[in-house]
Amino acid sequence: AKSLGGGTWRFFAADMRPRASQTAQLQAEMRGALTRREFVLFYQPQIDLRSNKVVGGEALLRWQHPQHGLLMPASFLGLAEESGLIVPINEWALNEACRQGALWEAEGLGELRIAVNLSPIQFRRQGVESLVKDALRTTGFRPTSLELEVTEGILLGHDEQIVTQMHVLRSLGVTLSVDDFGTGYSSLSYIRRFPLHRLKIDRSFVQDLGSDPSALAIVRTIIDLGHILHLQVLAEGVEEESQLALLRSEGCDEVQGYYFSRPIPADAFATWVSEHER
Ligand code: C2E
Ligand code: CA
Ligand code: CA
Ligand code: CA
Repeated sequence: AKSLGGGTWRFFAADMRPRASQTAQLQAEMRGALTRREFVLFYQPQIDLRSNKVVGGEALLRWQHPQHGLLMPASFLGLAEESGLIVPINEWALNEACRQGALWEAEGLGELRIAVNLSPIQFRRQGVESLVKDALRTTGFRPTSLELEVTEGILLGHDEQIVTQMHVLRSLGVTLSVDDFGTGYSSLSYIRRFPLHRLKIDRSFVQDLGSDPSALAIVRTIIDLGHILHLQVLAEGVEEESQLALLRSEGCDEVQGYYFSRPIPADAFATWVSEHER
């Protein structure tokens, strides 16, 4: 190899290339990806089952890599968390989602709720409330249109600071949802300690709805639990009409999934929304 520039992996044939170096390479590239503006957000519509209207969208991170093409979170999120880069990346995502949400509203697309995923790491390291306040202030996005998705892991730690931060977010008007609900932990005690708005039923339960009676029982239980606690319930990963019908008859509030749309780029999302009655 002539150049050491990009990293020592150049010395190896492709099939011998050590994984660790490949990983280091990707991590190094990730460091510059933010300033090169290679990250993008895709949006997936969320539909209210009573009105059949689009109520919002979940912002999902993609990395437009110059060589590897469009990378999904599964291929780089782990690295981003290990290196701590998830913090600035997610800060970007939050700001970008708010910017986009404010723009859509200014363009007359209506009041859309935009959901942003927060990483547990970020939650512990950063003051989430000031991060969110800054994003709302600089973009002018309506706080009540911003939803933050957190996983059960964040809620489990008996961390009073996190409870306090969430109450501050709540007082701003921001809503909080629990992502992948049902997959994390068996303890439910945390639900009462946090100012939550929504449970998102994990798609693994939705996928088995038609075939596995226990999946239906779990879905039914989550919907009932949510409603008893005055929480909205959204089912994710809806791919089939039959799943939709079941969720509807069980009283699920909202759905999201390939049946309606995959996550799509911002402009395509705007078109999608304007073509669906709101
Ligand atoms: P998630 O938050 O559970 O997001 C839902 C995932 O399910 C998305 O995968 C979405 O594309 C996929 N999905 C939606 N509907 C269907 C369906 O009907 N069928 C199937 N099979 N899949 C469906 P994606 O976009 O690859 O994201 C994967 C995960 O990466 C997300 O899971 C989330 O945990 C994480 N992630 C995405 N964006 C961000 C971000 O900005 N920040 C952080 N911290 N995490 C993110
Ligand atoms: Ca999510
Ligand atoms: Ca999820
Ligand atoms: Ca997930």
